[in-house]
Amino acid sequence: MVYLDYAATSPLLPEVIKAMHEAEEKYFANASALHTPGHLSMNKIEEARKLLAKLINAEPDEIIFTSGASESNNTVIRTFEGHKIITSPLEHHSVIETAKVLGGDEKPVLYSYMLANNEIGEILPIKDIAKKAHKEGGFVHSDLTQTLGKLPLDVKALDLDYATFSAHKIGGPIGVGALYIRKGVPFEPLIIGGSQEKHRRGSTYNTVGIAGFGAALKYVLDHKTWEIYDTKVRALRDELASRILKEVPGSSLNTELDGEKSLPNILNVSFEAAEGESIQLYLDAEGIIVSTGSACASGDIKPSHVLMAKTGDAEVAHSSIRFSFGLDNTKEDVEKVMAVLPGIIERLQKISTIERKIK
Ligand code: PMP
Repeated sequence: MVYLDYAATSPLLPEVIKAMHEAEEKYFANASALHTPGHLSMNKIEEARKLLAKLINAEPDEIIFTSGASESNNTVIRTFEGHKIITSPLEHHSVIETAKVLGGDEKPVLYSYMLANNEIGEILPIKDIAKKAHKEGGFVHSDLTQTLGKLPLDVKALDLDYATFSAHKIGGPIGVGALYIRKGVPFEPLIIGGSQEKHRRGSTYNTVGIAGFGAALKYVLDHKTWEIYDTKVRALRDELASRILKEVPGSSLNTELDGEKSLPNILNVSFEAAEGESIQLYLDAEGIIVSTGSACASGDIKPSHVLMAKTGDAEVAHSSIRFSFGLDNTKEDVEKVMAVLPGIIERLQKISTIERKIK
């Protein structure tokens, strides 16, 4: 199998599997308990918290663990319920939909802008947005889910008040995330009724999941994965892009390859007169795993809101495929894609021509 859907979720790192097995056996006790096994569980959680703090240049106390990026996003937006919430049109649905329901007119304003988008990889000027927000007396939140491990990160240098993370995009388990909350900024817990996380997030600590997240964070730090993404992974992504443009008629890129403009591991391409879902299924039959726009939106017949915001063209959106690379991909994977993709697109374009004639 050639897996090119890392932006949707990534396989568990062997280090993560090992850490989670160990936690299941050794750190089963409730981490809030005052007895020794409870302390051991809590130590494991604090280890992971310190690793994330180190990776993003925060204080461990400024981080809480959550059930994932969706919860982290919801938590920040809920804190600003009734306030004016300004988001980019490229945000994940867990920001856009929550802001729609909870946003109002009160001040201070919350700006919620991701640093990098999950569908096309676009990098947004978050430092400028933070400057503007703070000048107005507002606050800034950034969904860093796709950025963790892919770019060097420093929440202080970016001047963020809140930042969202998820474990499963970096080889950790699904169902674990984190939220950075800068010291002194407004905060309302989403889950009330527990003293965990210093009353900032109720519910028994997910020790096994957090231990897995910790192991993935350690991997990122030990290997400086953002450097591997910038070199090896970027080269593979760019190679696939240039070969597609050369070898597949009617192809056009929705990702700007320029170093400053996109994440190094995401490539979104549209194929004229070929439907994204059909391309995905034909590639799947060849053992090549990709996604159409965003997995979160699939099953939804509406075109991707991100591609619509960028292109305003439903045909472009419906004919798009996202290739997202991980650390394990090789040149051979690019070869395997290019061995079948031109034929698949040609066939689909022919069918489309026949359909048009019949109509
Ligand atoms: N934000 C972004 C940018 C994402 O890519 C995703 C995952 N598709 C999420 C939020 C949601 O993450 P989780 O699955 O951890 O809730």
